[in-house]
Amino acid sequence: MKGRTLLMIPGPIEFEPDVLQAMGQATISHVAADFCEVFGRALERMREVFLCPGGQPFVVAGSGTLAMDMAVANLVEPGDRALVVNTGYFSDRFAAILERYGAQVSHVRAPVGGAPGADEVEAALQQGDYALVTVTHVDTSTGVLADVQGIAALARRYGALCVADGVCATAGEECRQQEWGVDVYLTASQKAIGVPPGLALLVAGPLAIDAWRARQSPVANYYADFANWLPIMEAYEARRASYFATPAVNLVSALDVSLGHILAEGLEARFRRHRRIGDACKAGIAALGLGQVAAPAVAAHTMTAPYYPEGVGPELLKAVLGAGAILAGGLQPEIKTRYFRIGHMGAVSAGDLLATLGAIEQGLAAVGYRFEPGAGVAAAQRELLKP
Ligand SMILES: *Cc1c(COP(=O)(O)O)cnc(C)c1O
Repeated sequence: MKGRTLLMIPGPIEFEPDVLQAMGQATISHVAADFCEVFGRALERMREVFLCPGGQPFVVAGSGTLAMDMAVANLVEPGDRALVVNTGYFSDRFAAILERYGAQVSHVRAPVGGAPGADEVEAALQQGDYALVTVTHVDTSTGVLADVQGIAALARRYGALCVADGVCATAGEECRQQEWGVDVYLTASQKAIGVPPGLALLVAGPLAIDAWRARQSPVANYYADFANWLPIMEAYEARRASYFATPAVNLVSALDVSLGHILAEGLEARFRRHRRIGDACKAGIAALGLGQVAAPAVAAHTMTAPYYPEGVGPELLKAVLGAGAILAGGLQPEIKTRYFRIGHMGAVSAGDLLATLGAIEQGLAAVGYRFEPGAGVAAAQRELLKP
């Protein structure tokens, strides 16, 4: 036994070996010419991966929550109205951040596992003069996939900026930031982008930059202020060093490597691979007789959130770990103890998924659940083998 375990949670994920090698290199100076080249190229690649050729990328040391904080701090002024399209725990976090910066927040919600319909979002937009709409592309608490394209179009029609949290989606779920009119699309390094935790990543479109420039009040967060970061991003992209706060040198090198892999695979192929693996996981879980939190019409492709079988709880995850796969427990408060989460994004392969379903079957057997051995693996394999 090699003692290998597969990290199959919704971030951090399994990383490519050369991404990890970049993390382990001797750290170079943040003003070295070599680093200017790496950082500059990473910024150019961000635009390509976000499908936003006219956008301004920001790469800042921090986690996904900082990316959310940065979007809101720069775009919201006290008293602004903001609409949160709420699909779970991370949508609630957007609301908390918006309120912290003085926004008046309204929600449009669906029952747990659902997503609000376009008609409900539009009805809410008709009620008030909103400056901003937030949407969580994949809410990692529920595995619900939101219609970012439709919501961005509605926000644009009603004169509001659209900020989309792509932390569990970017470079896994389809998003065409520029074409869809998403004003800010943001993520964290450790999810489908495929880099260890530590970077907040966002791309701001021209309307977002204009709105920031037109602010009446100062940005109430010193570290997150675009005014501090924009000149730095522009300098590195021009292959010049500039200092505001020390960049996470090794993480930026690793990001450059991972973005290179993503572009080499091609975004269309990558979106397809995530759809295929996501569908296979859902088919496997269903064949084992387990329910899922997200309704099929709004289920994400980067993760799956199955309910535990009747009478089974988190002890299942321990048994699955014993069989070689690390899964995550529940997060959405109303149902937290009743379900678990499987991440399948980034470098994930069909083999990783089959191994994970095999480990889940081992775990289910260990906790005394009755099922047809191999049923989950077979259903997933059938899905993977579809032409
Ligand atoms: C993980 C996640 C976050 C938070 O990111 P951190 O890096 O943990 O701060 C925010 N939104 C979504 C959708 C996430 O999946």
